[in-house]
Amino acid sequence: MYLTFDDGPNRGTENLLRILHKRNVCATAFLVGKHVYGSKKQQQDLELLRKDQLIELANHSFTHAHNRYTDFYKNPAAVVHDFDTAKDSLRLYDRIARTPGRNIWRLNNITVTDLKSSKDAADQLKQAGYKVVGWDLEWKPNNTMALKGKHEEMLKKVDSIFFNDLEKTSRHLVFLTHDQYLTDSDSVNELDLFIEKLQKSNRFVFRKISEYPKINEVLN
Ligand SMILES: [Zn+2]
Repeated sequence: MYLTFDDGPNRGTENLLRILHKRNVCATAFLVGKHVYGSKKQQQDLELLRKDQLIELANHSFTHAHNRYTDFYKNPAAVVHDFDTAKDSLRLYDRIARTPGRNIWRLNNITVTDLKSSKDAADQLKQAGYKVVGWDLEWKPNNTMALKGKHEEMLKKVDSIFFNDLEKTSRHLVFLTHDQYLTDSDSVNELDLFIEKLQKSNRFVFRKISEYPKINEVLN
């Protein structure tokens, strides 16, 4: 189980760290470069993430496409440049990346593009040496940007993915949610219970994304 959290540093980052430490599980934070420069608090949260042994940092672009995804992916060179900017700015040198607004995979053995119009940009990221990791399961927000639904439903979805062999690599599940959904006590509690029940089932080990199979092999 690879717990991943996108768009940090953000509201909710500190709550996320509190849950991870309570449960003593590791996770990966896919950071947005510009968020680090959004406020003093976000800069401080980056330093909290950076020094935390349970956390691995990865690249989720500098601008997050300004949330205009269609335009962003039309210009593959600019996409690579945006990831390079985040890499240099945040010192994310292992080149593990996740595309904003798109569930794209470009690893040695896995090529997935959710929207075909992003294909060229994804291929160029791979050519530039990025290992692009999407996700198998997302815990989405409700209309108040809190976690939608209960942990029991998410646990059922985890089971369903394995039962139906829907994970990209057999027996490895990449889980995604966002720091910014962890600002209210219900969401914090639900994520905590989700992790606790995964742990108590004794069926899972938690790993950082750099330990995903074959991710560190040289790309073809
Ligand atoms: Zn994002």
